[in-house]
Amino acid sequence: MLYKYHNAIILEKSRRSDEIIKKIVSESLKVEDVQDISLMDIRVGGEFCENCDACFDAVFNFNLILSFYVGDVDCVGVGRQKQAWRYSFLTDKAVHGLGDLSALRIDREPILSDKPLCYIDQNILTQAVNKKDILSLLLKIQDDHDIKIVCSVSHFEEIYKISDLESRQDFIDATVALTGEINLQPCSEDDRIKLFFENASITLSRVEMTSNSSEAVEMLKNLKDEDRRLYFEKYNNLDLRKKIGQAEKIFESLSDDEFSRLVCMSSPPGPRKIDFKGLTSHSSIRDAIYFLHNALDLISYKQDKSTRTQRSSAHDIEHLIYGSQCNYFITNDTNLRFRAVEIYSFLGVPIHVLPLSEISSIKI
Ligand SMILES: [Zn+2]
Repeated sequence: MLYKYHNAIILEKSRRSDEIIKKIVSESLKVEDVQDISLMDIRVGGEFCENCDACFDAVFNFNLILSFYVGDVDCVGVGRQKQAWRYSFLTDKAVHGLGDLSALRIDREPILSDKPLCYIDQNILTQAVNKKDILSLLLKIQDDHDIKIVCSVSHFEEIYKISDLESRQDFIDATVALTGEINLQPCSEDDRIKLFFENASITLSRVEMTSNSSEAVEMLKNLKDEDRRLYFEKYNNLDLRKKIGQAEKIFESLSDDEFSRLVCMSSPPGPRKIDFKGLTSHSSIRDAIYFLHNALDLISYKQDKSTRTQRSSAHDIEHLIYGSQCNYFITNDTNLRFRAVEIYSFLGVPIHVLPLSEISSIKI
């Protein structure tokens, strides 16, 4: 994602002040130590251009460090204010990264399928690209069981990120072979998720135009770990997290009060458990799955620790959202399977969540 700065000096100021804030939050820097820092070095003076990310960051950081220095805010407060700043920065990028929407080309035709829908995640698609017999197996199962394999725009967002053009084309070809270019997409006219037939190149060109925005959304998602540290201290306890990790029907087992705080980040009366049942519009399903998936992150439920999988978790959410419209959700990612079962059963949607090895056991 593009980070704008008008010159190297301001970039250095925003970076240095970021470092200082990091140290304050981790309590390795006390108020007395701040005296030793020459605040003049990180202060933004006449060079403030009102037009770049680094300028706004540097000004915000300087004021925050100053508030800490004069005792207006403690290190926990510094952490929370910085976190809130990150959220607004990324939200802004997510909204403004959308570019000129009037140039978006949509050329699709709604499709009604009388066959059960079978959603495959990105990893299954990757396997079908890498191994021809997996692709053949999927196609055979589609025929034998009279089901319809579908992907969604989220697959195209991941395909778009493949920089090697030859490899990108392999993914497009596999998607086309499996789905016949019939994919789940949001429909803004009636706020539903629907099946559309659309040429893959058109879907991909639309994804390209919104790519900056998608990246910001992914980064927003990854702030959740920090949220836990700052706001849900209770769940930093490893034993408690282990206990939760072994539980089933997690959301139902939470008290109403705990549910509101953890899932909706609000105190009761906020959204209640009942508000998560029987949802039909794309926006309400999307919000619900975001809330629930984030809550699972906050308690570290079946969470992968590697950076690669953390980064892909924003796509996991998107896959869960589109998958909610299907009869089968196929993934080989064990953690995602556990999460899918928790989320779908709480939402009350009857979806079979299976690994690829069990796909041939599908009974219609
Ligand atoms: Zn500037």
